[in-house]
Amino acid sequence: MSTIFTKIINHEIPCYKVAEDENFLAFLDINPNARGHTLCIPKQEVDDVLDLDVDSYKALMLFSRKVAKSMKNVIECEKIAISIIGLEVPHVHVHLIPINEMRDANFSNKINLSKDDFSDTAKLISNSFSSI
Ligand code: 5GP
Repeated sequence: MSTIFTKIINHEIPCYKVAEDENFLAFLDINPNARGHTLCIPKQEVDDVLDLDVDSYKALMLFSRKVAKSMKNVIECEKIAISIIGLEVPHVHVHLIPINEMRDANFSNKINLSKDDFSDTAKLISNSFSSI
């Protein structure tokens, strides 16, 4: 099923892009738990992560790992939380969330960022990703 994430992949709606390769895309979550909260998605339209074939699942995790390391290099935080939920958007996505305490990983705990904050943060992580 096509979702808003396919529109992002196809550049029909904008995103703050962090990283991209042939099969995957990473961009900032528009309603973040913390600065740098990033979503990693496969370009193929699959709803449930458990329905990805094993190779695609592994490749998504490796891509997400590289994005998470890029985030850790430039965003001050204790850990990068990795979470897969998918209750809102039925297109596989891995949440990567910079955390300092448990409540940063709580999805009812949101922060407000300006367009400049989003843009600067995406550039920071993107440059870090390119250097790994
Ligand atoms: P989940 O499906 O894992 O429950 O949550 C979906 C996530 O996608 C939410 O954190 C939400 O803020 C994010 N999201 C929903 N629509 C958009 C969008 O159009 N652009 C971006 N960048 N993030 C979105």
